This record gives sequence, C-alpha cells and structure tokens, in this order.
Amino acid sequence: MQSFNPPRRILMGPGPSDVHPRILEAMSRPTIGHLDPAFVDMMDEVKSMLQYAYQTENSMTIPVSAPGSAGMESCFVNLIESGDKVIVCRNGVFGGRMMENVLRSGGEAIMVDDNWGEPVDPQKLEDALKANPDTGVVAFVHAETSTGVLSDAKTLSEIAHAHDCLVIADTVTSLGGVELRVDDWGLDAVYSGTQKCLSCTPGLSPATFSEAAVDKIRGRKNAVQSWFLDLNLLMGYWGQNAKRAYHHTAPVNALYGLHEALVMLGEERLESCWERHRYHHLGLRAGLEALGLSLIVDEAYRLPQLNAVGLPEGVDDATVRARLLQQYGLEIGAGLGEMAGRIWRIGLMGESCHQRNVMLCLGALESVLGRTGAIEAASRYYDA
Ligand SMILES: *Cc1c(COP(=O)(O)O)cnc(C)c1O
Repeated sequence: MQSFNPPRRILMGPGPSDVHPRILEAMSRPTIGHLDPAFVDMMDEVKSMLQYAYQTENSMTIPVSAPGSAGMESCFVNLIESGDKVIVCRNGVFGGRMMENVLRSGGEAIMVDDNWGEPVDPQKLEDALKANPDTGVVAFVHAETSTGVLSDAKTLSEIAHAHDCLVIADTVTSLGGVELRVDDWGLDAVYSGTQKCLSCTPGLSPATFSEAAVDKIRGRKNAVQSWFLDLNLLMGYWGQNAKRAYHHTAPVNALYGLHEALVMLGEERLESCWERHRYHHLGLRAGLEALGLSLIVDEAYRLPQLNAVGLPEGVDDATVRARLLQQYGLEIGAGLGEMAGRIWRIGLMGESCHQRNVMLCLGALESVLGRTGAIEAASRYYDA
C-alpha cells in the first residue's frame, strides 16, 4: 500500500464542490483536545459565524458532526414524536428522504407532491393544512438539488405558521448560494451541508433551531430515539452556558475547516456570495444556450448554483461525463431518480463558482459534443 493521492479534479456537480486551499490548509493544523479552552473559543466563533450565514439569532445554531443527511435526520428525530402528523412537500429526491425520516421517527407523513422540475406549490400546502388541521410540522426543501429548483421558503413558512405549524427546511444547497433568511422567514429547524456553497469539505451539517423548536424538543414526552442526534444532550456540549460536557469527540480538524470557510464568507459578505453565484450562472447559461442546450427549469425558480441541463438528442450521458472526467478532470453530475439519463447537473457552488470554471466547462463541452459557440457567447457576457 502507498499513500492515497487523489487525481486533480474540478468539481462541477451537485456537491462536493471544490474546496478552497485556505480551508484545506486550516484543516492540516495540529489537532487539539475538543475540550481545550482554545477549541471551545473556536466553537463559539463557529456558532456566531453560522448565525450570520443563516441570518439568525437562534442560540441553538451548531454544526452537527456528520454530513447533511445527519442534519436532516436530527431535525426530524428531535421534532417528531410517535403519531405526529407532518406535511412533507416533495418535488424531488430530497423531499422523498424527508418522508422516510418522518416514517422512521414514528410520524405520519402527509405528502404534498409537485412535479419534478417545479417548485412546491403554496396553494397545495394551504389545502393540505386545511384538510389536516391537526398537523404540527411542515417540511420542505428550499433548493432541490435533484432538479435545480428553488421553492419560495418565505411564503411556505408563512402558510405553515398561519396553521400553527413548525417548519423544517432543507437548505443544504441554498446556504451561501441564494438568499436565505432564517429569522425573517420564520424557519424553525434548518439544516445544511458544508460541501456545497460553503466551499468546505463534506462531513458537517450546520443546523439551527428556533426557540419554538427548542421548546418542542425540551417538552417531548419520550426521549429522542437517536442518542447521537439528541439535541437535549447536544445542548450540553454546544449550548450557550453549557459546561461543555463530553458528548462525542468533535471532529476537530473538520471544524477548523468550517471555521475558515465561514471566515471567508464573512470577508466576501453573504450578499456578494449570492450575487457571485447568480453572476456566473448567467455566464454559464449564455454558453450552454449557444451550444443549443437548454436549462430544464423555468427562469422564475431556477437555481443559479445547480443547473439542470436537458440531455441533447442522441447523446450518451455516461460517455460524455466519462470524457469530461478523463480529458479535462472535470466532474459534472448525472440526473438523480426520475431525472437519471435525462439531465446533467452542472454545479456552480462555492469555490467552484468562478469564471475560469465556467469557461473550462463550456470549452470542454464544445469539444466533447463537437459543437461551437459557447466560449464566444460566454466571453461576450463577461466582457459586457
Ligand atoms: C446534498 C444534499 C443533502 C444530503 O447531504 P449529504 O451531505 O450528502 O448527506 C440533503 N439535501 C439536499 C437538498 C442536498 O443537496
């Protein structure tokens, strides 16, 4: 056996996205104890920078020590008790996973389905809440990574609160990539991932819980079925006035990485980060359209950081992606679920979202597809 040296890649899929060298460097610093006073101070900084990223004052704002799926699970296992009715809005793969989480938490899932490629329809949520007045929680995905669709989190949350429900929102792909305001929009339990628009490595799930969510968790009749994800226990480790009791060993170096990613977000400022994603998305779009490729999601609710591109007639999905990887070291995503073989998913997330990547991707597609015009169109966009 020898040391593993990964090939050089440019990651333009649905995540992970490219990691900034500053973050990798931060992660290589010496490991210290997770109860070391210096580490505890760093944890406090991570919490306050996450509050900024989420635009929230929730004191229960922490990185769950596992990937986005664990953040998802922590929201569901903590908020849902046996027999609870939960409305799950599903317009792609991740809404389906939310349903699984409800069922495994002992809840009853009422599904509000929308077509893949469409946002969640607020009217359907309203109707479902009227038909199920005993619902306690509404869950939806803000940015559906399987289709590239943005749903109107603010409106969905308003409707849910008008029916006295708590809101669980998946913001794995939206955090850092598009506008997200947890407090203004009244989102109660929110989770994300570090490997998408935050330019960090995979493996942590920033999550935040409102006062109302924390009250519900504190007032549970039964203990949370997952010991590891039980927020009542985690509060003793991450909580404001907690004595930092040992719960599990924090992933020390991974947290150095997240800390650096959040410092960088603060330097760039959140609004500029959202704007950067929009700006390069338009550059990519100009080039894709010049190639005769179409974005399958309507402009009104299209995500800038995840571009779902219709597969052109007569082109083999796997062959193209394999050539991009071999010849350019470029990874783009395949379709997921019912979109498999029908779309490519080109991510412009975090550190992957730069002009040089847009140009590389367009040039690579020109050559692999044997078409022209993309570089020229994107150059015109950037020069304008
Ligand atoms: C990537 C993703 C997840 C899962 O995150 P992991 O870090 O892969 O566990 C959940 N929801 C959405 C919308 C995602 O894009």
